[in-house]
Parts: sequence; structure tokens; C-alpha cells
Amino acid sequence: MQHSDLRTAFQQAQQVLCQSHSVVLTSHIHPDGDSVGSVLALWHYLRAQGKAPVVVFHSPVPAPLRFLPGVEVIRRYAAERDAADIAAADAIVVLDTSELHRLGALAEAVARSPAAKLVIDHHLQPQPFADITIVDPAACATGELLWRFLRFLGGPYRTPEIALALYTAIMTDTGSFAYSSVGPDVHRTVAELVELGVDVAAVHEHVFQSWSIARMRLLGEVLAAMELYHEGRLCLLVIPREAFLRTGALEEDIEGFAQYTLSVRGVQIGLLVVELPIEGGIKISFRSRSGITVHEFAAEFGGGGHPNAAGARIPEGDLQDICHRLVERARAYLR
Ligand code: 5GP
Ligand code: MN
Repeated sequence: MQHSDLRTAFQQAQQVLCQSHSVVLTSHIHPDGDSVGSVLALWHYLRAQGKAPVVVFHSPVPAPLRFLPGVEVIRRYAAERDAADIAAADAIVVLDTSELHRLGALAEAVARSPAAKLVIDHHLQPQPFADITIVDPAACATGELLWRFLRFLGGPYRTPEIALALYTAIMTDTGSFAYSSVGPDVHRTVAELVELGVDVAAVHEHVFQSWSIARMRLLGEVLAAMELYHEGRLCLLVIPREAFLRTGALEEDIEGFAQYTLSVRGVQIGLLVVELPIEGGIKISFRSRSGITVHEFAAEFGGGGHPNAAGARIPEGDLQDICHRLVERARAYLR
């Protein structure tokens, strides 16, 4: 999106939000720090404007993010309670995804609702279903783009709650400010957020030092079984269903595992392939070093994402079979 298009989208979104009384906020399945932080920041902002937005997610909020103020308002979608709110909403704001199907169980209800639909997102090649799309693929996080939008809207957005939510969004989506998406402007934004009272060490502790022992045991097993292919340029981590059952770890416990694939010298692409014990199906995380892109690789498997971090989900299939296909197809993306 061009700068001027973004400004137009800001203006259109402002008008819609101004005129809307009932607003629903949501984000993608398996929410991460960026989705939860961005949704909560917007919830705090709209509430201060006298609205009472309803927040509905397909999946529960992972434990490490439950410290965020306001998190208790996030409902897990239950059709009998939430479908009516979605149908009757004046506006629905979808954050951190542009793809309807990534809303999981809410997708159909959102598609059917006559509400005005807004997307605020930073993913590549959006296939927008919304009436208004605020999308900037150059943004390091949806939270960073949302901060720009709130600044445009004005009003009481410089609050400790919003700063904490958006700091968490940006920190988690940038690997603690380490990815190539982080330039000086991001640090300036983060400085503003910290000035509003964010306890940086406390956020780090909640997000990175609050794991269960089951997660650590699962991580140990998974790392011990790490494999390299194609002269060490491809790294594969696999989690079979039994590993969850053996260690007692939950699906949400694998957050951050994919990143370990790039810890090995010489690896250009890392893959984490997970057989989900409860949801069923297979989830693939794609990671790559700068200079190598994986979003098209992920698209081959029905997914998408960013150039250096993408994902896909396969409803059913054989774990070994999918791993073989991934290793074969990886050749096309390695250098
Ligand atoms: P992760 O591997 O951490 O789950 O996801 C990394 C990135 O890939 C996410 O930020 C998201 O942009 C994208 N992604 C993950 N899963 C999917 C998926 O199933 N479909 C699409 N289109 N993108 C995904
Ligand atoms: Mn994001």
C-alpha cells in the first residue's frame, strides 16, 4: 500500500469507527503476541471512546500472554453466544491477518455479517475480504501499524495499557527487535511506548520465562532429534503427536520452537513440522535467513506469511510423507 492509500484507509476507517456503536474485534487462530496485543490495544482505545467492543477469538489466549490488562474480555468463540453479536455488529475489525479462513470458526459468521469490515494487518499479498484494508507489509508488526493509526485518530491513545499491549505486540513479532523489519522508526516508537511506563523486564519475563516444565521437556526432545539436509542448508524439526502426549506439553507450548532452526550455522531455511494432537492436522512453520524467502514455499503448501517467517496448515496427511515433500521442495528456495 502506498503512503497516500494508507492515509485514505485511515480516514475511511476513522469514519466507520466513529459511526459504529457495536464493534467486534478479532484476529487469527493460534493468536500470538502481535494479535493479542493489537486487539487489546484497540479494545482499550475504543472503550475510552465510550464504545463496548466485543472481542472474540477462535483459540484461547496462550498462557504467557495472559498478563496483558483486559485479556479477560477475550471470549473464545461459541456460536450460540457470539454469532448474534457478529451478525448485529456495525463494524468488525480483524487484526493481524487479511485472510478470512484464518479466523477459524468465526470465518463464516464474519463473512455473512452485514457489518462494515476493517482489516489492520502487515502480511504480504493480502487477499482482502474487507471493506477497508489498512495493510502495510513493511510494518514490523500489526501493533506498530496500529500505533500509527491511533496517532492519526488522536484522542486518549497514549495510555499505559495501550503502550504495554503494543510493546508486547512489537517485541514478540520482531524477535525482541532483532529482525530485518526493525529500523530506527521502530526503536523510536518503542521508546515512546516505554516512556508511557512499560516495564520492559516484566514483559520479557512473562513472555519468555514463564514456561511449563512440560514445554522444556518437549523442546529438549525436539532439539535432540534435529536433522540437517542439503549440505546443512535446510534444518528440520519434527514434533509427532506422541511427543505431546509423552511430555504433557500443549499445542500452545511450541511458540518459539521454529526459531531454533536458524540457530545452526549455515542453515538457510528452517522448518518445524508439527502433528497437532488436539486440533488435528499438521502445522508447518517456515523460517529463513534474510536474503532467502519462504512465503512462496509456504504458499505451495496452502499457507503464506512474511518473506522470512511463514506458515501453513494441512488438515490431514501423513507426517513422514509431508516431511519428505518439504525436503524435496526446499531445493527450489535454497541458494
Ligand atoms: P508461525 O510459524 O509462527 O505459526 O507463523 C509465522 C507466520 O506465518 C505468521 O506470522 C503468519 O504470518 C504466517 N502463517 C502461519 N500459519 C499460517 C497459515 O496457516 N496460513 C497463512 N496464510 N499464513 C500463516
Ligand atoms: Mn503479526
